[in-house]
Formats: sequence, structure tokens, C-alpha cells
Amino acid sequence: MEKKKKFKIQNYRFVIQTAFALLCIWIGIEFYLFVRFLDSGGASGFFPRPPGVDGFLPISSFMSFYLFLKTGEISMIHPAGFFIFTAILLVSFAFGKSFCSWFCPVGFLSELLGDLGKLIFRKNIRMPKFLDYPLRSLKYLLLGFLLYSVMFVMSDMAVKSFLESPYNIVSDIKMYYFFADISRFSLIVISILFLLSIVFRGFWCRYLCPYGGFLGIMSLLSTNKIKRTASSCIDCKLCTKACPSFIQVHKVNTVISDECTSCLNCVDVCPVKDTLELKNVVLKKRVNKKIAAAGVVGIFILVTGFGMLTGYWQNNISKEEYLNHYKYIEEYGHPTDTKKMRELNEESGSKNESVTPERKKSN
Ligand code: SF4
Ligand code: SF4
Repeated sequence: MEKKKKFKIQNYRFVIQTAFALLCIWIGIEFYLFVRFLDSGGASGFFPRPPGVDGFLPISSFMSFYLFLKTGEISMIHPAGFFIFTAILLVSFAFGKSFCSWFCPVGFLSELLGDLGKLIFRKNIRMPKFLDYPLRSLKYLLLGFLLYSVMFVMSDMAVKSFLESPYNIVSDIKMYYFFADISRFSLIVISILFLLSIVFRGFWCRYLCPYGGFLGIMSLLSTNKIKRTASSCIDCKLCTKACPSFIQVHKVNTVISDECTSCLNCVDVCPVKDTLELKNVVLKKRVNKKIAAAGVVGIFILVTGFGMLTGYWQNNISKEEYLNHYKYIEEYGHPTDTKKMRELNEESGSKNESVTPERKKSN
């Protein structure tokens, strides 16, 4: 058996995950300062809204992407969200569900909690199979509901009206208050998810994240896959033991799974040269691990950078408009009930009114 050189891409992956998590924390701090400015009624110094916060609005970003596909128009309410979503989608086409294991801060946290669980229980505890399969379908049910609501219930104009509605304009601020003023119930639910993620590695990602489900489906179309050469495999099962997604890597010739996050853990641990690799299945060529890492990061930077350079990054909402919307934020409800959805479809020409409650008189 020819041993291979020990080079672990995991160190690079950890650096990228940490850098992205720090970037998200920085965006969070900037957004906090922006909300503080709004909360002071404009009295405290103006702090601009960081466009990167759009990345935390996946539904709005998807709707923006969908509208672009249908009409060629980029919504200017959360334009950065459109480019972040497009970047994630392209990364998934090229390198599978890699956003989850290379960038996503929730995926990173989930991984750290899983490591903590392994430290406590001395192994990764696997959900019993009879529960694993039905639970894995939950994220697809959530995804199916979201896709159905946007693609089949709403007309193009209704999607546009939603994107331009006051609710969508302030959805990031509402999300901020969801966490800043968290209710007891939400805190209990989040704490339970934390605990479950310690016990069962990747609980949130594996069972509940509809975004991950969507990327998992997209990743099946990727031509870069983990390939095993059965003739040189010594059946040591190290790849399967290292796989955080519980994929039986040692049993397959090609990993085709919606759960594979392209973390390359399995490739790192395989002790035999040229036996487990990332390969382009069309070109039948090995993809070097460093090239894969550069590809994942490069696509993301190129697409989001394109948005920044072409002026589709900052939204077109002035601070005066934000200050005005902030006064009524409590009244801006989600247009989820059938009546409002019908209004959106029927009155989509008169944007905003259909989803905006009667405005209070300004004091
Ligand atoms: S199969 Fe390999 S690349 Fe895919 S999730 Fe498992 S360890 Fe990561
Ligand atoms: S790590 Fe997996 S692919 Fe590599 S030799 Fe062992 S069983 Fe075979």
C-alpha cells in the first residue's frame, strides 16, 4: 500500500469558517449600531446599515432570486441578499453543499457543538434509523412549503409587492428584535436545539434547516464528487468514521448524497494514496483539495464582489425612510394569511398598501 502525504485541508477550512463567523459578528455589531441610531429617533450619530445583514434573510433573498429569474429585475430592497444567495447557489453547483461546511456560521456552531458532544460522550451518537429518516424529511417539508408558497401561491407581481412591502424592508430589524428581546418560549426552543446538537451531531442542519435541504438538492447536480477507488481501498473505514454526515463512504464508489457537505474530512483521513479523492465526474480528473478550497471561496467572493462593483449591494432606502418605518415596526405584520395573500395577488399594482396596516399618525 502506498501511503499518501499528510496534508489536511481541514486546517484551511477551520480558518475560513472562523473568518466568516468573525465577519458575521462584525456585521451584527454594525447592525446593532444602526438599530441604536433608529431607536434614538435619529438623535444619536448615524451608523449605516451593513448590507451583509441581507444574508440572514434567506426567504427574502430567494424571492428576490426568483423574481430575477422571472422578470430579469433585481429588487433593490435587499440586493446584497440576492447576490449572496446567487453565490451560495453557484458554490453548491460547483462544489456540492460546501456552503454548509465552509461558510455557514450556524453550520460552524453546529460543528463545534458536535465536537463538544464527541468529547463528552467519546463518540458521535447517531439517531436511531427509524427516527433518522422521518426527521430528515422535516427540512424538505419546510422547504416544500416555502417554495410552494412563493412559486405557486404568489404571482410575480405579488412577489414584487412583498419584496417592496414595509414588512420586508424592516424584516432584518424584526429579526434583530426576535433575538434581542427573545421570548421565553423561543429561548427554550433554541436551548433545546443547542442541547440536541451536542447529543446528535448537526441536529439542526440534518433535520430542520430548509436552506441546507435546498442546497442538498442543488448539490446533487454538482459534477465534483467524492470518489473511492475500490481496488486500492484497504477497507479501514476511517473515511466513514470521519464523516460528520454519517455517510458510509467505505461502501460506495461515488458519494451521491444530499447530506454530503463537501467538508473533505474523509479525503483527509484516507491513508492510501489516490484512493479517496474529490473528482470531476465529467472530466474524470482529480480536483486538488487546495483548488477546491480556492474555488469555494473564489466563487463566493467573485459573485458578491460583482454585486458590490455594479452598485447592487447597498439598498436604496434612505435613513429618513428607515426612521419613518421604524415608528410603525410593531404594526408591520407578515402577509401570511390567505386574505392578505389574495390582496397581494389582486392588488399587486398598488404596492405596499396591501400588506401595510393602517399607519398611525406620527406624533
Ligand atoms: S462524505 Fe466526505 S466530504 Fe461528504 S460529508 Fe462525509 S466526510 Fe464530508
Ligand atoms: S479511508 Fe475509506 S476509502 Fe480510504 S482506504 Fe480506508 S475505507 Fe478505503
